[in-house]
Amino acid sequence: MAGPRPLWNGARAVLATMHGKERAIAPLAKRFLALDLRVAEGLDTDAFGTFSREVERVGNPRKAARAKIAGAFALMPQARVGLASEGSFGPHPSLPFCALGRELVLLVDRQTGLEVAGHHAAIDTNFAHQVVTHTDAGQAFAAKAGFPAHGVIVMGVLDGQPAPHLALFKEAASEADLAAVLARTIALTSAAHIETDMRAHRNPRRMRAIRRAMVDLVRRSRSQCPTCARPGFAITGRVSGLPCKWCAGPTHLTRAAIWGCEGCGHREERAVAATAADPAHCEACNP
Ligand SMILES: [Zn+2]
Ligand SMILES: [Zn+2]
Repeated sequence: MAGPRPLWNGARAVLATMHGKERAIAPLAKRFLALDLRVAEGLDTDAFGTFSREVERVGNPRKAARAKIAGAFALMPQARVGLASEGSFGPHPSLPFCALGRELVLLVDRQTGLEVAGHHAAIDTNFAHQVVTHTDAGQAFAAKAGFPAHGVIVMGVLDGQPAPHLALFKEAASEADLAAVLARTIALTSAAHIETDMRAHRNPRRMRAIRRAMVDLVRRSRSQCPTCARPGFAITGRVSGLPCKWCAGPTHLTRAAIWGCEGCGHREERAVAATAADPAHCEACNP
């Protein structure tokens, strides 16, 4: 079979960002997807939700990314393809005291209705926050977060909760700036909530994670359905029952992956590389 054909052949694409994400996304989109990618000038992506809580984000990350893409298409009607990325950060579901960062990059081709998503999840994030009552403590937090290479956001505090409507500083660039905004905020609300800035242009780790999610999107886009050639042919499920090396009975281990196409519904089972399971996983041999 021939290799993947050039996917979009120079088609115009629009990226919904105002935080410099084109640095992570555009080179890969051009080189591997053959997209002519431009930034949606004038799009206010903060209207779709901000990390610093002035605007609450609605819906899940995929819906938020779709909404941004729709906004970008409105600004660039001639674009065939739209891209947006969406990050979410929070406590790790199973590892206590660990933060998990997830990045999604979504691509929508409105000519074919194709939607491809790339993902990256990592505990390699500096997502953190703290309430401080002295500038020293705030500066120590910032140093630990990698400031000034990584940005931090300072906001007021009301009843122990972050209160961005009382005070909000996002652009501190130097130690001196930071000390000044911490002092102003503490003077105003008796304490300051300080947190890592998760906007991509102020967070090099996040920029790397977005790039990895884009690599995943490229990989999925170049995986084409063997029946209809639609991009995005991907694993949709797994079949257990890898035979035991001793008794050949079925184990819980994966025997095959199920690949599926969202376009034509074609499905196929592809066996995993292993042909037999270690007897340690066998109910009969190792009950
Ligand atoms: Zn297909
Ligand atoms: Zn066995």
